[in-house]
Amino acid sequence: MAGAGYKATHERSIRDREGFWLEEASRIDWRVKPTTALDASRLPFAQWFPDGQTNLCHNAVDRHLPERGAQSALVYISSETGATRTFTYAQVYREVNRLAGAMKGLGVECGDRVLIYMPMVPEAIFAMLATVRLGAVHSVVFGGFAAASLAARIDDAQPRLIMTADAGMRMGKVIPLKPLLDEALALSAAATPQVVVLDRGLAPDRARVAGRDHDYARLRGIHMNDEIACEWVPSSHPSYILYTSGTTGRPKGVQRDTGGYAVALASSMEYIYDSRPGEAWFCTSDIGWVVGHSYIVYAPLINGSTTILYEGLPMRPDPGVWWKIVQDYRVSGMFSSPTAIRVLKKQDPAWLGRYDLSTLRFLFLAGEPLDEPTSAWISKGLGVPVIDNYWQTETGWPILTAQPGIEDTPRKIGSPSFATYGYELEIRDEQTGAALGAGQKGVLCIVPPLPPGCMSTIWRDDERFISTYFSSFRGAPVYTTFDWATRDEDGYYFILGRTDDVINVAGHRLGTREIEEAVQTHANVAECAVVGVADALKGQVPVAFVVLKDPARAEGALQCSAHAREVQHAVDTHIGAIGRPAQVHFVAALPKTRSGKLLRRSIQALAEGRDPGDLTTLEDPAALEQVREALNPR
Ligand code: ATP
Ligand code: MG
Repeated sequence: MAGAGYKATHERSIRDREGFWLEEASRIDWRVKPTTALDASRLPFAQWFPDGQTNLCHNAVDRHLPERGAQSALVYISSETGATRTFTYAQVYREVNRLAGAMKGLGVECGDRVLIYMPMVPEAIFAMLATVRLGAVHSVVFGGFAAASLAARIDDAQPRLIMTADAGMRMGKVIPLKPLLDEALALSAAATPQVVVLDRGLAPDRARVAGRDHDYARLRGIHMNDEIACEWVPSSHPSYILYTSGTTGRPKGVQRDTGGYAVALASSMEYIYDSRPGEAWFCTSDIGWVVGHSYIVYAPLINGSTTILYEGLPMRPDPGVWWKIVQDYRVSGMFSSPTAIRVLKKQDPAWLGRYDLSTLRFLFLAGEPLDEPTSAWISKGLGVPVIDNYWQTETGWPILTAQPGIEDTPRKIGSPSFATYGYELEIRDEQTGAALGAGQKGVLCIVPPLPPGCMSTIWRDDERFISTYFSSFRGAPVYTTFDWATRDEDGYYFILGRTDDVINVAGHRLGTREIEEAVQTHANVAECAVVGVADALKGQVPVAFVVLKDPARAEGALQCSAHAREVQHAVDTHIGAIGRPAQVHFVAALPKTRSGKLLRRSIQALAEGRDPGDLTTLEDPAALEQVREALNPR
């Protein structure tokens, strides 16, 4: 199909769904080959490859043994502990069989849930693979979550088994996990699961509950020579549950299928990521997030790549650590987030020039709006194109992106380019639901069916799946992304912010993203958040919170107000006075979710004197305090 060009490929993927996706399905192994691509009889519930049977672990591991048994599958690098470990496909196969044997011994069966609450270690990936090998369903919970968030996810997933470790590490500090799990289990109303603890030798607390807690290394020893056959499951069998980031409220348990997901990821590695089997691939996300599920674990392994698992921060031991990895492992494709790049941008740019990055072809960034200065800075520093990916936990792979493996289309600053093949998109008027044309702003929607790889439903809550995503407009239901967007004459999309974040200034509707982009053009701005605050006269006014690269330049009342005026002026020139922030506050950090997304709803609540709401996914409480103090200076 590649070679046909982007437009023709996208058109065919919509017009000839059956033909297109059945061809793509041949990228993976099936126990029973599907004869149809789609069962659309129960939309919006789409079933992909309904009569096919396959297994995710087989496709990620076993399938590669004849050709790639001796090739590195997984390279684990920890700048926290200093460890580096490499596993070939054959070694991953052995480790996964041992663990699958252990899980089976603990009573895990097809359809059971296995909750994985682990740091970024190879055993976490083995646990994911062993789970799907048995046809069980994993629910990975980010290792940075505290007991209450974990308990809520235990109650929702009702796991038979929980995989954990004694501790994680962050900035060289040991963060015990097992005690948090004990606390969560005490809070949880679910039946007591079995627990397997990986002892990394980091935490001194070795308290274990007899009959419930088991030691990973001991079980591994017992099951050393196990060979556990893959459980062949129907394509629509759930592979995992994963919760959204909770930026806009209570997280939703996204349920993913098996066959559609494997096919979507396999195709994406060629069409979007232009990555060839055998090459090294480095995704800096966390296995606790969707980007980690798809692009640290499943996509690169299904593709036969060497995937790099990095435990640590981007600037420790120094801000060159990622680029050294690119050099040492000859990485050809890299996937990160704008947040991480903005962290690096505050450091000395010389770090980018110290290593040989000639193997690198692309940097993909996802998760948040990519502002122009960040994009330009990193693209210049690395000497490779930066590709903005727009997607959601719900979709599992990009909705909007350039697809250089199909055609190297020109990219426009501030735009994640076009609809990914398989996605039929519309921009709809928020009030009337009418489909809008070029240049008009509205809500970005996906016309059903959601393509392969996207969520099949909300875990055990079909009702909420429909009421949350498919009930915004009357008439034919469409999936709402809850993001505000526009498309230009050339078909390029621009994400303007979340629908909750649209500001209405005296009848003019502005996306927070548009104003933030303008603020970011100021040379001393590292990061910013703009929220709409209720105003008696104008309805709402924008208020900006700004993190400076060099805070010293805005010290003292005089410099500070001069800086604020410059920021306002930047908005005046880029958007017009209508978007000018009524106030500009300087803070040292912005409140974010643990996945690095701005918690605008909490900032806005504080700015309007309201309660900041659900903070269970907040990364750093001190950042929210700073916002509070900036608003109410003593
Ligand atoms: P919740 O749905 O629980 O409120 P969340 O939406 O933050 O949480 P995710 O699924 O992790 O959870 O994030 C998806 C959202 O992130 C998108 O809907 C969009 O708002 C934003 N996003 C992701 N990638 C981009 C991008 N490239 N450009 C702009 N926004 C992006
Ligand atoms: Mg969301």
